[in-house]
Amino acid sequence: MSDIIQLLPDHVANQIAAGEVVQRPASVAKELIENAIDAGATNIKLVLKDAGKTLIQVIDDGKGMSSTDARMSFERHATSKIQKANDLFNLSTKGFRGEALASIAAIAHVELKTKQKNEELGTSIKIEGSKIISQDFISTTEGTSIAVKNLFFNIPARRNFLKSDTIETRHIVDEFQRVSLAHPKISFLMYHNKNEVYHLKSSNLRKRIVSVFGNKMNEKLVPINEQTDILSIDGFVAKPEFSKRKRGEQFFFVNDRFIKSSYLNHAVVNAFEGLLEQGSHPSYFLYLTVPANTIDINIHPTKTEIKFDNEKALYAMLRATVKHSLGQYNVAPLLDFNRDANLDTSYHLHTNSGATKIPKISVDPGFNPFKEDDKKENSLPYKIDKRTESWESLYTSIASTDEEKQAELFHNQQEIQRQKTFQIQRKYILSSIKSGVVLINQSLAHQRILYENFLESITVKEANSQQLLFPVKISFSSSEIEMIYTIKTELESAGFSFDEFTKDTITIKGIPVSVTESKITIILEQLLNDINLEVPDASFSHFDIMAKSFAKTLSIKTGALLSEKEQEGLVNDLFSCKEPSTSPFGKPIFKTLTLTQIDTLFNS
Ligand code: ADP
Ligand code: MG
Repeated sequence: MSDIIQLLPDHVANQIAAGEVVQRPASVAKELIENAIDAGATNIKLVLKDAGKTLIQVIDDGKGMSSTDARMSFERHATSKIQKANDLFNLSTKGFRGEALASIAAIAHVELKTKQKNEELGTSIKIEGSKIISQDFISTTEGTSIAVKNLFFNIPARRNFLKSDTIETRHIVDEFQRVSLAHPKISFLMYHNKNEVYHLKSSNLRKRIVSVFGNKMNEKLVPINEQTDILSIDGFVAKPEFSKRKRGEQFFFVNDRFIKSSYLNHAVVNAFEGLLEQGSHPSYFLYLTVPANTIDINIHPTKTEIKFDNEKALYAMLRATVKHSLGQYNVAPLLDFNRDANLDTSYHLHTNSGATKIPKISVDPGFNPFKEDDKKENSLPYKIDKRTESWESLYTSIASTDEEKQAELFHNQQEIQRQKTFQIQRKYILSSIKSGVVLINQSLAHQRILYENFLESITVKEANSQQLLFPVKISFSSSEIEMIYTIKTELESAGFSFDEFTKDTITIKGIPVSVTESKITIILEQLLNDINLEVPDASFSHFDIMAKSFAKTLSIKTGALLSEKEQEGLVNDLFSCKEPSTSPFGKPIFKTLTLTQIDTLFNS
């Protein structure tokens, strides 16, 4: 038999390797910026066109390359960063595989310009799909500029696989944030389609975090600081009251490298024990420094996961340090479930959430839920709909003859006037129905009501908007502003009206009726978060995400004490919904227990 094994040609091998290194424009941006950092740059500029699909360029003022190195840098396994296998265990650079430039050049049009310090001339190289097109001496400034154009031009399947510009930009912004947070001393610029997205001056850690995430971040930060023989921890956690519904701003850096670690995340979350609302996630920016020879960053091709030698000790230290700092800053204990229930204000979305009111106890002996006037007084922040048939049928389903119906109605009224609903553990509402009892999750019920209301006002009716007496100016980071701008029309149909967009602020002059002024920032932040995490592609409407996001943010939560009227209003409105049985996120809202089921509980 003849021999059949051949070595793959270099350009094929490079294309295969590229698949591992370059998933999307963001991976290119990351690799190029990391190279600039390794080259000792103090100023790094990222220039993008069309979410990087047309152009990703990184310009640095680092040490540059010689003419020979410039040519060599595009070879596979060509690196200046390690020489022998042992160096792998003492890495201080971002790169070490010598694969990035070769991979990128295999699947794009690349133009490199570079010059070293004391050299008169620099080098320019053009490569397309691993093929050198030209190499010249040029006069250029010190440092390196690499422009990557037409990514995946020779792999149409990969190019078609790229997501919308919004999503690809989001991925680039994520990488940009990570690397700029890891290096506050380096100044970073980011341009997208000629607009400045970030301008981060050389600064300290706190200022860098604030300039990346906007001024409002400053008041949220609690400093973390600890030094031991095997580890030093620096950075900040956000106060628990600013925790997010979605994992958002969670950053671990180990030796200046962004990493993901569910294990260390667990340690931090654990330190917040008892301080977080259920289902919310703390924000943190934590910088761990460990001896380079106690970690292995070699286990993952894109290098966001690492292995620690003494994981358990790190866990314990991290947890203790964060806990200690939270305690020192007097943010604990925030939630104290044992305090006197009477001291809690019941929820009321129309009051400004900041002010605590002295609770009034009032009993309305003449209250009759079937009287229209009483219903109007109901303090729930949405209109009570007239579509009540469905819930009434739930209450009367068994009654059939007129006589029975009369009796049933009478019976219900009696019962209602005494006690129609009970709140259980500030989480569920128990209500008796003809066939037994129904248990309703208060938070999910309210989500459903708000969700349907929002969807209706966004898509069917003209949105109910309230003009603010004084327009509110809110600061956001520039990437957030860009995002809000792209969904401006949708926000307007939800009832928002905007006055002015600047580089870092938005002036809002009108808001949906169901939103209070004090909640504007939080619902917009949450919305941005949800859009980032959930939009599957650009053609997908933002309306549903918006309605879900608003419903989630504004809904009453577990732990809110509800007055009897509020409980009843909630039940009425829930059963006026089109789909009262499941929450907008697909969870069951209520469970019924029939009399027969109750009976069997006792007979078994
Ligand atoms: P690695 O970073 O793993 O070494 P790369 O393919 O990213 O591999 O880069 C190959 C080599 O090219 C680097 O080791 C470095 O010597 C050189 N290089 C790449 N980018 C730059 C830059 N911006 N400035 C100076 N040298 C660079
Ligand atoms: Mg590199």
